[in-house]
Amino acid sequence: MTTLADLQVATLGPCQYDSPLSSYVAGRQTNEYYVSETDRVLYDDTVDLLSGRTDPIDQWPSFETGGPRARIFHDPATMHVGVVTCGGLCPGLNDVIRAVTLELYTHYGVTQVTGFRNGYAGLVPDLGFEPVTLTPQLVGAINERGGTILGSSRGAQDPVVIVDRLVELEIDALIVIGGDGSMHGAHKIVQEISRRGLPIGVVGIPKTIDNDIPHIGQSFGFATAFGEAAKAIAAAHIEAESAENGVGLVKLMGRHAGFIACYAALANHDADFVLIPEVPFALDGENGLLRSLARRVTNHGSAVIVLAEGAGQEHTVETGKSDASGNSRLGDIATILRDAIEKDFRDRGVPLTLKFLDPGYGIRAVAADASDSVYCARLAQIAVHAAMSGRTDMVVGRRRHRFVHVPIPLVISRRHSVAPDGDLWLSVLESTAQPLDMS
Ligand code: ATP
Ligand code: MG
Repeated sequence: MTTLADLQVATLGPCQYDSPLSSYVAGRQTNEYYVSETDRVLYDDTVDLLSGRTDPIDQWPSFETGGPRARIFHDPATMHVGVVTCGGLCPGLNDVIRAVTLELYTHYGVTQVTGFRNGYAGLVPDLGFEPVTLTPQLVGAINERGGTILGSSRGAQDPVVIVDRLVELEIDALIVIGGDGSMHGAHKIVQEISRRGLPIGVVGIPKTIDNDIPHIGQSFGFATAFGEAAKAIAAAHIEAESAENGVGLVKLMGRHAGFIACYAALANHDADFVLIPEVPFALDGENGLLRSLARRVTNHGSAVIVLAEGAGQEHTVETGKSDASGNSRLGDIATILRDAIEKDFRDRGVPLTLKFLDPGYGIRAVAADASDSVYCARLAQIAVHAAMSGRTDMVVGRRRHRFVHVPIPLVISRRHSVAPDGDLWLSVLESTAQPLDMS
């Protein structure tokens, strides 16, 4: 169970400076603009959960509120901020880089903003990636393009070397935009900084196209991603409908969590089967995929299967391989399904037109949609406020429309995934033709 202690965010020390944002609050009650350091966002969000608590209110688990503070830790005149993007691409990375830079320059008057190139590799001098100076001119319209202007990478880097580099460049705060692996890396950097007793903050902006980081609400780029994925499902549906016994098989991202598959399927109701890592399915048997698919095609003439890449791993052979960051390579469930479906139709003497769509990289590379752009900009601003106030070892998130600070150890302690007995999966079952239990 998550306790109040798990939600305490570390700081570098007392705040000694007045925020330069004060000019924005002239003539207003400052408490309308600045967040209170004592007001917190409750972790539990239902009456039943709260009334079940027996401990005093001041022990109830709650998050630190994100937003601008009246007093800050770092002196904006001398502050130097580093920014790095790590891991796979996700819509909105450039929006975040842009908003971090603009918030620092225009609101705080911080003019030293350095972008490290190609992920954590950019903080390792021997690898030879020169940092770039981020200015409002440079980041001007970068949000119109997908990807990250800073580049990204996988692969382990030594936190000792990274902290040496931060010290050498006199960086006061490092903003890490990355996924679960990057946050593991960020925590190791924090540990090395603490070991040396340095006043350098590390603030994360969680990036996960799969939406599988816990406690942060919805991740940026996720909505753009499932919107693009829904277009692929619609295309598969048209292909399937236009052929004799057409079957569309759409492979989507989702190594450990099937959120993209679920939301994309719900977006246009074209999917007849949704297969995700959290819910096992059988190929054979009365309610297995093959017979369920055969029934659907017999009755409706076509079918669409949406497959998260991490689904049905029990049907694959373990690859035993991993990428540069140590993430295990998944078994190829898409090929196994294609082969099994083709064999099943062949064995039954039924013609089949199977179309396989894998829009993966095309989804990761698109620019954020308008809603995600707004979200990216606001998350970036919250991260800058946190960094200025001396927060460290934390990420920003948005729960129930409130921006919050979440300690990094908490977000890397587990993964967020689709609950097989939860309301999202029930919505998926209601909008597809698949049996409640396909296992
Ligand atoms: P995504 O999986 O969403 O693409 P990610 O941040 O998880 O993003 P990774 O490639 O796993 O992507 O990690 C990015 C960076 O973080 C890499 O440089 C990697 O070495 C570092 N990293 C990953 N896991 C760890 C870890 N356990 N400890 C320290 N550093 C790590
Ligand atoms: Mg990862």
